[in-house]
Amino acid sequence: MILDKFSLAGKVAIVTGASRGIGQKIAIALAEAGADIAGVARSQQEETKQAIEAVGRKFLAIQVDLTEKKAAEEVLKQTVSYFGKADILVNAAGIILRKNFIDFTEEEFDMVLKVNLKAVFLMSQVFARYLIENQRKGKIINIGSLLSFQGGILITPYTVSKHGVLGLTRAMANELAKYGINVNAIIPGYFETEMTAALRADPERNQKILDRIPMGRWGKPEELTGAAVFLASEASDYMTGSYIIVDGGWMSR
Ligand code: NAP
Repeated sequence: MILDKFSLAGKVAIVTGASRGIGQKIAIALAEAGADIAGVARSQQEETKQAIEAVGRKFLAIQVDLTEKKAAEEVLKQTVSYFGKADILVNAAGIILRKNFIDFTEEEFDMVLKVNLKAVFLMSQVFARYLIENQRKGKIINIGSLLSFQGGILITPYTVSKHGVLGLTRAMANELAKYGINVNAIIPGYFETEMTAALRADPERNQKILDRIPMGRWGKPEELTGAAVFLASEASDYMTGSYIIVDGGWMSR
């Protein structure tokens, strides 16, 4: 039956950026669909843990900074020693810095690229190696952005990183398909999270953004979770190297 293909019962998912925002809502949704979750963030993930345990699933909080050396190995090691395996990886951790292109420092550029792109590369590589060595199939879901396609303003390193995430998604998909590993991206439009609080607090920017969104409103992180469950599940088995845009219509303007 079709709804059975969306079930994640018996699966284990690693979700980075699970302490708040989009990563948190995706982690909870995967748990609602039946998966146990290893959540990754620098801070405590008490809220995420409570929500996941409330739906009867297990949650392991892995407190690491993904820019630290060997962070990816540590995440995989903790997940497999706690749950015995891993089936799904969602790379949702991300940061943004806003300033003029001409004012960004080398350190700022490196920092955004480290979290948004290099950590995605390293997490995915460690996870894919584990799957291949253990002859397991798996799903990798990356979080891109409208800035995977557009230039944007005041966020050069972020734009570079998110263009990179889409390229990485496609490159990995090509090489990992033969192992039964699907790699896809979700492309969120403008969502109400801490990352976008400054934009929403600026009345002029906020209005300009709303004017361009056909639906005329910001997205809520919960509204991305259907796409995540689909990409994590058997329902998307013939989909790889691709993406789902969830943007209230922004890209159609
Ligand atoms: P958010 O609310 O700021 O959450 C970011 C998450 O990333 C937090 O859980 C944070 O946890 C984690 N994180 C950041 N740096 C980390 C590091 N060095 N190591 C480990 N974890 C780290 O942002 P969001 O809006 O939910 O964004 C989630 C993803 O969606 C990002 O990739 C973002 O680029 C993407 N996205 C967001 C929007 C939007 O409109 N909000 C649009 C397009 C794409 P800690 O601070 O606890 O470490």
